[in-house]
Amino acid sequence: MNLIGYWIRSLADDEYPPPQELVTDYDPATRDQIAAYLDAGSTFAVYRGLSWCRFFCDHPMGNCELTDGEWVWPQDLSHYVRNHDVRLPDEFVDHVFSMRPPMAETTNDWSTVTPDESFWISWCAKHRSNSLVARIQSARENADTEIQKFRAEAIREREQVEGVTDTICQWSGCDNRALAGRVLCASCLLKSESSSLLIEPYMNLRPIMDA
Ligand SMILES: [Zn+2]
Ligand SMILES: [Zn+2]
Repeated sequence: MNLIGYWIRSLADDEYPPPQELVTDYDPATRDQIAAYLDAGSTFAVYRGLSWCRFFCDHPMGNCELTDGEWVWPQDLSHYVRNHDVRLPDEFVDHVFSMRPPMAETTNDWSTVTPDESFWISWCAKHRSNSLVARIQSARENADTEIQKFRAEAIREREQVEGVTDTICQWSGCDNRALAGRVLCASCLLKSESSSLLIEPYMNLRPIMDA
């Protein structure tokens, strides 16, 4: 089963494109038929946490993946087709138009099936316009700088507050000195805590994509 319809998650995401780079001009009948087909899929999997529209339109998005037994897609993929004219692979569109209405809710147990997303990733790489690549790249560099600055400040502060000993940090390959009363240095401790502040700057997609 092919998984389609996933979009860029952060500035550090090289795998998925922004849907803005795949906008097309389907005629309304084609667009509506694809969107209706997508809406009619049966539930494949349910996730915690809702998705968000990459066009920042505040449309409520879903937390499910749907399937027709051959393809798998996020529940909100129809929104991208219907409201934002986002293009999908010809292979999928041909499939939609060759099908009878999608199968009714099945009792299939999909819990052991892992859909393949390599088709989607390579299709996107081939067909995206790359119009936002330069902006994403430069925003990512700014985010990198911001994160490095934050990291350096956090390390300095921690070393000042907790004090540094002569013991070497126990993180594999690290030869910094550990913090007083700890087995790790300030840098490795920060890594192990996976602070959201070290990721947050990558999540700032709106200024790049909401143009
Ligand atoms: Zn939207
Ligand atoms: Zn260390």
